This record gives sequence, structure tokens and C-alpha cells, in this order.
Amino acid sequence: MTDSRLRPDDPLGLDDLLSDDERAVRGAAREFTQRVVAPHIADWFETGGIPNLREIARELGRLGALGMHLHGYGCAGLTAVDYGLTCTELEAGDSGIRSFVSVQGSLAMYAIWRYGSDEQKQRWLPAMAAGEAIGCFGLTEPDHGSDPASMRTTATRDRDDWVLNGRKAWITNGSIADVAIVWARTENGIRGFVVPTSTRGFTAPEIKHKLSLRASVTSELVLDDVRLPSSAELPLAHGLSAPLSCLNEARFGIVWGAMGAARTAFEAALEYAKTRTQFGKPIGGFQLTQAKLVDMSVELHKGLLLALHLGRRKDAGTLASEQVSFGKLNNTRAALEICRTARGMLGANGISLEFPVIRHMANLESVLTYEGTVEMHTLVLGQALTGLAAFR
Ligand SMILES: Cc1cc2nc3c(=O)[nH]c(=O)nc-3n(C[C@H](O)[C@H](O)[C@H](O)COP(=O)(O)OP(=O)(O)OC[C@H]3O[C@@H](n4cnc5c(N)ncnc54)[C@H](O)[C@@H]3O)c2cc1C
Repeated sequence: MTDSRLRPDDPLGLDDLLSDDERAVRGAAREFTQRVVAPHIADWFETGGIPNLREIARELGRLGALGMHLHGYGCAGLTAVDYGLTCTELEAGDSGIRSFVSVQGSLAMYAIWRYGSDEQKQRWLPAMAAGEAIGCFGLTEPDHGSDPASMRTTATRDRDDWVLNGRKAWITNGSIADVAIVWARTENGIRGFVVPTSTRGFTAPEIKHKLSLRASVTSELVLDDVRLPSSAELPLAHGLSAPLSCLNEARFGIVWGAMGAARTAFEAALEYAKTRTQFGKPIGGFQLTQAKLVDMSVELHKGLLLALHLGRRKDAGTLASEQVSFGKLNNTRAALEICRTARGMLGANGISLEFPVIRHMANLESVLTYEGTVEMHTLVLGQALTGLAAFR
């Protein structure tokens, strides 16, 4: 006879869909988050930085989380599902840590791995996989976010060199990076460049006063006559489809990661509902509270099921970019709604950093915006449904 009692942490039995190896990867990421992130994250968020980020980067490297699903050059070579499960666990700690891993592995490393020369791969990928070198990815500009095709940063030829000029904005890891992947307009269209951040003319002032993703470095990139050898160009990246393909990789991690943030908020709300007493009984005993908890659980586990479905498709080589948009749109929206509901359920305590909820809620405001806003993914799916583009 099967046990029909529903597990609050896994009502759909999603664990049964994972292999022993996948559960082991998830367990290692969970152990890392609980040991390294959870005890300090509220302080890091409050003070606006991670003091030992280099050390944590190396720990993430030892975990195999940096470029986890890439093969060769010191990368772990695991599956997309393994990578997704890791993103969920890291973001259950904080979206800032998952953002670090996404930008390092799915944006900066993936760009080199997919579009780089062998020399670029040898130079950067092993060090980045180990967390010894940190990367960033500069696509967004102060005046061009959702519409990167209009970017103004230029790369012009000067004999055998490239000379880059322009400005990028909102770049994760910018001021701590050793290498920046910079996308710029050339006379032959958009191209990508591998820019060591020690290059003369490159500066990356940090963006302060953020009230979201505070445990993550966000910066401008200023390119002022940055002179690079011709070997700095990513030889296989031709046009905007190259950076967009990198974003698609990172979005895949967000589909999983957002549900980690939601899970932590849900767990906090469930625990609170069972222990907080008002009107003589735990607030979880009121029907209105139970309706909220049930809605949160339904959305959380539907989102996790969706992530796993997309992960299986990615591993099978059948995942379409529109399906990643579907997942990003649904899961970031659902995760934010779960956090907002949890925030209310905790009453006044819901606004305190003593509980993880408002931190996750604030972080998800960024996650909702970056890697394509809700509106952009809605337009992607609208076009897929109707065959009509409504972007402009
Ligand atoms: C914390 C953080 C970290 C980031 N990290 C990086 C990074 O590492 N690298 C990088 O390159 N970028 C990064 N970004 C930038 C991010 O990708 C952009 O913010 C995002 O693409 C949106 O661009 P925007 O902010 O310029 O908004 P805009 O494009 O100006 O959009 C403003 C609003 O208008 C809406 N809108 C725009 N066009 C349309 C339309 N056609 N129809 C309907 N609505 C529309 C948008 O959906 C949005 O709601 C980061 C952002 C944040 C907040």
C-alpha cells in the first residue's frame, strides 16, 4: 500500500523524478548554502556586500557550480537538471549568490565556451571554473535595456587593434571582475570582446543605493579608448543572437532559482503560521491563512515541476528559447507573489531582516526585471502564439 499522506515539502512527489546522482548534487548545493550563505546573508544584505566573495567564489568552484553544465576546460560537465537543482538551492539562500553563479557560468563562461577561440578558452575557463577568476557580461547600457540592438558602445578597428568606447550599466560582478565580456557595435554588426579588466581605459564604478540584490555587486562599465588586440574578439559571435543565446542560458537558471527563493519564503510562512497565535489559536488554523498557504504551495510546486520539465528538455536537446521565456515569466512572477503573500502573513515581522522573506521579495524585484522583463517575455510568447511581433 502506498502512503497517501502528502509531504508538505514535496506534495507532488517530485523527488521521485530525480535520480540518486541528481539528489546528491542537490544535497551538496543545499549543504553549501546552509553552511556558507545562510548564517551571514542577512548581514551581507544589510551592509550591501559580501566581504569574502573571492573565497566564496573558490568554494563555489570546488562545488562545481561555476560553468556546471559546460564540458571541458575544468568545468564540471554535469547536466542541465543538475545545474538547475543547484540554482534552486543557491537561490533558497539568496538571489545574489545565484546571480553570481549565473553571470559567471551562464553568461561570461558560456560566451567564451560557445563563441571563443581555443586560446581564449584555455586562458579563462579553467580559472573561472575554479573561481580564481571572476567574469561579468556587459550588454545593457544606460539608455538601452530591453532593446539591446540599439546599443551605442562601439568597437572600431585601428590597424590590428580594436578600440572600444561606450558605457554599460547594471552589470553584475562588474567592479570585482577580472574579465568582462563586452558587446559592442562594429561596422559589421554587434560583436563580443573578451576584455581583461586591467586594460587601460576600463573602469567599473559600483552602483550604490540598491534596495534589491544587495548581496551582489552591480556596476557600470566605462570604456574609454580601451585598446585590445584582434585576438580579443569572440571569433564565432556574429550579431545580437550571440549575447541573446547567453541570456537564454542564464534565464534557464533563473527558472529554477526563483523557486528556491519562493521555497524559503513559503517555509518561513508555514512555520510562522503554525507558531504565531492570535485570537487564541495559531494563525495557520484560520481558513484565510490556509487558503494563502495552499495557493503558495500550489504555485511553488507547479513552478518546480515546470523547471524540471524544461531541464529534461534541455538535457534532451529539445528546449526552445520560447519555452525558457515561458518558465522565466511564470516562475519569477509566481515566486514574487509567494514572497509578497508570505510577507503579509508574517505581519510586522515580515518587514524585518530577522526573517528571510522581505530580503527574497526585494531580490525578486531584480530577478523579475533582468534577463528580460515580464513584458519582454510576454511579447516573445505573444509572437509565438500569434505569429505577430508586437515589440515596436
Ligand atoms: C540587479 C541587476 C543586475 C543586472 N545585471 C546585468 C548584467 O550582468 N548584464 C547586463 O547586460 N544587464 C544586467 N542587468 C540589466 C537588465 O538586463 C535590464 O535592466 C533589463 O534588460 C531591462 O532593461 P531596462 O532596465 O533598461 O528597462 P527598459 O528596457 O527601459 O524598460 C522599462 C520598462 O518598459 C518596459 N518596456 C520596454 N519596452 C517595451 C515594449 N516594447 N512593450 C512593452 N513594455 C516595454 C519594460 O518591460 C520595463 O517594464 C541587470 C539589472 C539589474 C536590476
